[in-house]
Amino acid sequence: MRLGFIGLGNMGGPMCRNLLAAGYDMAVHDVRRAAAAEAERMGAAWAATPAEAGAGRDVVITMLPTPQHVETVLVGPGGLLDALGRGAVWVDMSTSVPAVADRVREVAAGRGVHVLDAPVSGMAAGARAGTLQIFVGGEPEVYERVRPVFEVLGDSDRVMRVGGHGAGYTVKLMINLLWFAHLVATCEVLAIGTSSGVEVGVLRDALLASPAASNFLDRDMLSVLRDGDYDDSFALALACKDLGLANDLAREVKVPAELAALVEQVYRRARRSYGDLAGEMTPIRLWEDLTEVPLRLEPQGV
Ligand code: NAD
Repeated sequence: MRLGFIGLGNMGGPMCRNLLAAGYDMAVHDVRRAAAAEAERMGAAWAATPAEAGAGRDVVITMLPTPQHVETVLVGPGGLLDALGRGAVWVDMSTSVPAVADRVREVAAGRGVHVLDAPVSGMAAGARAGTLQIFVGGEPEVYERVRPVFEVLGDSDRVMRVGGHGAGYTVKLMINLLWFAHLVATCEVLAIGTSSGVEVGVLRDALLASPAASNFLDRDMLSVLRDGDYDDSFALALACKDLGLANDLAREVKVPAELAALVEQVYRRARRSYGDLAGEMTPIRLWEDLTEVPLRLEPQGV
């Protein structure tokens, strides 16, 4: 199977390298040529345009920041869409919405081009380790055909088809919305509790032993609590994009989303304060700045 890969950033870079290490023949493209250096060293062919990355390829993966970038790559100048041949599959693994894919399917279906949405969870560390969770929307037969590729990128028991076209995008947006809501709720609780005089480690242990426990507090927030690491591998600008898309989706399906709106505003406030490139857990600093006390565990005694 011959692959194309477009978008070699924090996620796409290591995903592409895992596919090369698994032996796939690969053409790669990014607006930043330097992003492809390691992939080229591993044997990938450089493609100067998205169309070049798609020509003669069986499966072409995009891993791009926003729906606007996906649109540019597909239907902009030198776009991928025109290059995809009969039987080829375009797999969009970006966190996005179905609008672009819907239009591509309309144009491409008559030409026998297939489309899957397959966004991922698991952070850059999961992309490097090949342990991503992958949520696929689209036709079952096309999913089965591409599944061996997904199994290189993710844990096979966590690669799942979640429904028809667009279902993968929806599942991914809902995961992120809940995770960001966990962050906001957890920070509020820790800031109130510690400001009232309870030591942060004690409060955390009590919460983890209670019905209010969460993976966020147990696992994901540890990098902040231990090392002050807010995870720069997922930028606040992208987190705000995801929250905006989740709120758009809620509006589209006419479900009121009071909490989602609030969480988005908190994230936008943090983006304004700490910048586009600050890490996805930087909103924690809003509370740390407010109370003037960083949320940190006491170092473990020796
Ligand atoms: P990133 O910004 O690190 O990488 C995006 C890459 O796309 C960059 O290399 C950029 O140069 C390239 N690019 C931008 N416009 C392009 C164009 N027109 N043509 C070709 N290349 C172009 O972003 P990322 O963190 O790798 O995220 C990619 C997607 O994955 C986003 O949709 C994000 O929401 C999602 N995601 C990210 C994480 C994470 O932890 N970083 C986790 C899950 C999902």
